Amino acid sequence: MPRLSAITPSGPAHLGNYLGAIRRWAREGRPGDLYFVSDLHGMTTSYHPQRLRHRSRELLALLVAAGIEPDQIFVQSDLLPQLGPLTWVLECTCSFGEAARMTQFKEKSAARELAETPVRVGLFTYPVLMAADILLQGADEVPVGDDQAQHVELARSLARRFNTTFGDALVVPRAVTPPAAARVKDLSDPTRKMAKSTPDAAGVLFVMDEPDLLRRKVKRAVTDSFDRLEYHPDEQPGLANLLEIVAACTGKPAREVADAFGSYGELKDTVADLVIEELRPIRERTGELLADPPELDRIRRQGAERATERGADRLSTVLRLAGVG
Ligand code: ATP
Ligand code: MG
Repeated sequence: MPRLSAITPSGPAHLGNYLGAIRRWAREGRPGDLYFVSDLHGMTTSYHPQRLRHRSRELLALLVAAGIEPDQIFVQSDLLPQLGPLTWVLECTCSFGEAARMTQFKEKSAARELAETPVRVGLFTYPVLMAADILLQGADEVPVGDDQAQHVELARSLARRFNTTFGDALVVPRAVTPPAAARVKDLSDPTRKMAKSTPDAAGVLFVMDEPDLLRRKVKRAVTDSFDRLEYHPDEQPGLANLLEIVAACTGKPAREVADAFGSYGELKDTVADLVIEELRPIRERTGELLADPPELDRIRRQGAERATERGADRLSTVLRLAGVG
C-alpha cells in the first residue's frame, strides 16, 4: 500500500523543503510510494495564476531532478476530473462541525480576518480535498507533521463513515510521523522556520538560487552575540541553525560539528560551500528539465495517467455506492 506525500507550490522550494522532505523522499522512499505537487492547495489564499503554473512545473522538475522515480510523481490538478466528484461525495459525508474544528482553518481564518482579507470557502473545505487526494490513491500511510495530522484524521473518519454508511470502497489511511529531521530556520530570523511563503526572501535559501546569491544570504545570516561556537539551540538559535545545516549536509551530529570551527566567518564559508554543492546537481538538472518542455510534459502526462488509473475503479465504486454517476 502506498505512502502519499505532497508539496504545495506556495513559493519556490527552499533548502528546508529539500533536506527535510524532497531529499528524504528520494533516498528513503519505497517503490510504491507516491509524491505529488499539490497545486490545487495553492489556491486557498490569494495567488497569481501564472506564478502557480510556473512553480508547479518547477517543483515537478525538481522532484524528478532529486532522483524520485517519475512514475511515482504527479501533479494534483491533472486529477481534477476524479478529484472533483470524490471531493463532492466526501463533502456530503463530512459534517460542518467537523470541518469547522480544523485548527489550521481556525488559525489561518482568524489571521485573515484580522488583516481584513476575505476568507475563501476553499480554505475551509481544503481538508476535504486533501482527504480526496489520499482516498483516491488508496494511500494507507500519510507522513505528516503536527500541523497536518488533524487533516489525516479527518480523511480517516470520512473513509470509515463512507464505508459503514454506503459499503466498503475506501482504504482507511493513517498519519505516520516521519523520523525527526532538522527544521531549517530562516537565516534572518532563526526563531521561525524557513518557509516558501515567507514574504521576505533574504533569509531563505532557495534550491534554484545561483551559488553567488546563496553565499551572500549565508554571509548575512543572523548570528548571536556570544563568542563561543557551541551548539545551544535555545540560547544561540542562529548559530545552531548553521551547525544543523552543516550536520544535514555532512551526516555528522550538530554538536560535534561546532568543534571544527574557530570563527563565525569560517563557519559561514563552510555552510555556503556545503549548501552550494548540495544543491548544485539538483538546480542544474531541474534547469535542464525546464529547458526541455516536451520531456517534462511527457513525464507529467505519464504520471497523470498512472495516478488516474490507480484511482479509476475506486472512484466508480464510490459513485455507484453513493447512488450517483
Ligand atoms: P508554506 O510556507 O507554504 O507552508 P513550507 O516551506 O512550510 O511552505 P510545506 O509545503 O508546508 O513547505 O512543506 C513541504 C515539506 O517540506 C513538508 O514535508 C515539510 O515538513 C518540509 N519542510 C518545510 N519547511 C521546512 C524546514 N524549514 N525545514 C525542514 N523541512 C521543512
Ligand atoms: Mg508549511
